Amino acid sequence: MTAILLPVFIVCVTVVATELAAAWIHRVVMHGPGWRWHKSHHEPRRGALERNDLYSLIFAGLSMGLFWAGATVASPLWWVAVGLCVYGVIYFCVHDGLVHHRWPFRHVPRRGYLRRIYQAHRLHHAVRDRDGCVAFGFVFVPPVARLRAELRANQRLQDDGSSNAPWPGRDQS
Ligand SMILES: [Zn+2]
Ligand SMILES: [Zn+2]
Repeated sequence: MTAILLPVFIVCVTVVATELAAAWIHRVVMHGPGWRWHKSHHEPRRGALERNDLYSLIFAGLSMGLFWAGATVASPLWWVAVGLCVYGVIYFCVHDGLVHHRWPFRHVPRRGYLRRIYQAHRLHHAVRDRDGCVAFGFVFVPPVARLRAELRANQRLQDDGSSNAPWPGRDQS
């Protein structure tokens, strides 16, 4: 019994840690120096793929590397890789599938936590630009009312700035 508990624990911790890391990377890297790739995801999609998918490729490569390390160096890493894969499936289902309809059927959740995830990420896409966005997490999301208030505050901040000033606290680039 205890033999299975450790792998399950490692997988669960990895899934939670990956969501926290993904939210941070989304906010700081993708909406920062990595905007060149992520911008495609905030524009209307042309074709099946977008440049932003390169981020998923990086995570897939990281997962493969961890599978290799788990098989050859330290076996707990194998379960970390499993956790990354589990997170990848969750991310694909809620973000690519549920929110962006990148699968062959369309379902908009009407209630519950899935509805909250859906609305939160739609609010993220309410801003086309790099700055002023809300809701950077994909699975753990704050209440939608709080995100709406945050979005309004960001818009007020942008409106109050001079027309060509950069987002407060950011260098123009
Ligand atoms: Zn974004
Ligand atoms: Zn999105």
